[in-house]
Amino acid sequence: MSEVRLRFPPSPTGYLHIGGARTAIYNWLYAKKHGGKLILRIEDTDTERSTDESMSGILDGLNWLGITWDEGPYLQSDYADDHIQAAQKLIRDGHAYKCFCTKEVLDKKREAAIAAKLTYKYDRTCCNLSQEELADREKQDVPYVVRFKVPDSEGAVIFNDKVYGKIEKAYIDIEDFVIVRSNGKPLYLLSNVVDDIRDRISHIIRGQDGLGNTPRQILIYKALGSNIPEFAHMSLTLDPRKAKISKRSHGEVVTVQFYKDHGFLPWALVNFLVLLGWSTADDKEIFSQKELIEAFSLEGLNKANSVFNYHKGDPKFFTDPKALNINAYYLRTMPIEDLTAAVKEEFKSEGLWDEKYDHEKKKWFQTTLDLIRSRFHTVKDFAVMGRAYFADDYSVDQKAVKKNITKYENINEWLGMLAEKFSELQNFSKDEIERVTRELAAELDIKPGILINGCRTIVTGQLAGAGLFDVLEAIGQDRVVNRLKECRY
Ligand code: GLU
Repeated sequence: MSEVRLRFPPSPTGYLHIGGARTAIYNWLYAKKHGGKLILRIEDTDTERSTDESMSGILDGLNWLGITWDEGPYLQSDYADDHIQAAQKLIRDGHAYKCFCTKEVLDKKREAAIAAKLTYKYDRTCCNLSQEELADREKQDVPYVVRFKVPDSEGAVIFNDKVYGKIEKAYIDIEDFVIVRSNGKPLYLLSNVVDDIRDRISHIIRGQDGLGNTPRQILIYKALGSNIPEFAHMSLTLDPRKAKISKRSHGEVVTVQFYKDHGFLPWALVNFLVLLGWSTADDKEIFSQKELIEAFSLEGLNKANSVFNYHKGDPKFFTDPKALNINAYYLRTMPIEDLTAAVKEEFKSEGLWDEKYDHEKKKWFQTTLDLIRSRFHTVKDFAVMGRAYFADDYSVDQKAVKKNITKYENINEWLGMLAEKFSELQNFSKDEIERVTRELAAELDIKPGILINGCRTIVTGQLAGAGLFDVLEAIGQDRVVNRLKECRY
């Protein structure tokens, strides 16, 4: 069997778009599954900007996600000579020709076709030039583009897309397309094929928006006498209004960097992205890397476009709720050592890290992370919602104050009494904490819930959380007592 070689060829936009990341992931999975190689190629032929800068965002995104490549990054612009030589070969072999028609002439012809309600197609004026006419224009240095000459026989380009099935495009419906601009620069349709031939690409997994290019690209492969790779066009990921997602209209939320900055675990994002347009027969949703590589197949790619339900401006669901839920799943279930490492990094950048968490307080730190992780969606939540465990400058949810504190006239007094009882405990364990809390409620003839909820609000600043007695034990006697004593609403 010939070698399995795939490629990820992004344009250097300066950032890795989640749609691009999804494409990279599918190609990477296919290569991994079949013992193949993934080639990273930056298609910078059309870019005006500095490639280095605009490439680094893409490399950072891939590195962070853990998507590794075997060759590259190659820069398309380094192979400009190959593209031009291919165009010259196509001209020599009669598969392409120089077209000297000016934009004005072409525009006029197009307008006339539209006025006559005909579909416009280039009329091949320059394909039919005599040798003398051609030599004459060349001698006068008339600017020209190079057009590919679509076969004029009856027939069609036919190929079997791994997702969309048999695709057929009649030659008659394909215009002689431009492969080199008048400034001598080759166009994407040509460069992309020439590079894929040189890189011996066997499988092309790309967006369904590339499907319109494929018949023309297959014509180029054939004309260059090369094997044609397998094509699998993936459905697109759209926004809830079914519009294409883009950084321009949706902002940072569509970049991989956004997820890195917002406390996502890289594998959770990979897991989420892979499900946008691919599924298994049993609709399994959570995969380890090994499981995903095993389960991945092109047959599982869906034809229907998927929806990225990002929620702009909603602080709780600041991105697709499913992405948050998958991230929360990994936070809840990952080995505590891995979670510790992720939170450590976050705490360091938030100024919450204490070196003791690596030494004498390591056990406490890990027990506390384990206690609070079940309600969190991102690593950031440990520093924000979980702040009261690690610092005194936590904020207090005013909804909780209204519900659990100001509603009760005597709450300051009650919580003061509870603080007193807590301060007398020899052993500040959850059982003892529970015992004295219930005792005080009985003495005061109030529901224990009033003390429990009031205490949670004051000590953690949150409306909800893990079991209060565990929470208090984790936060510790002194801090709990002080916070309750300071409570004056
Ligand atoms: N550079 C192209 C893009 O980013 C590559 C498309 C392809 O996979 O052929 O859209």
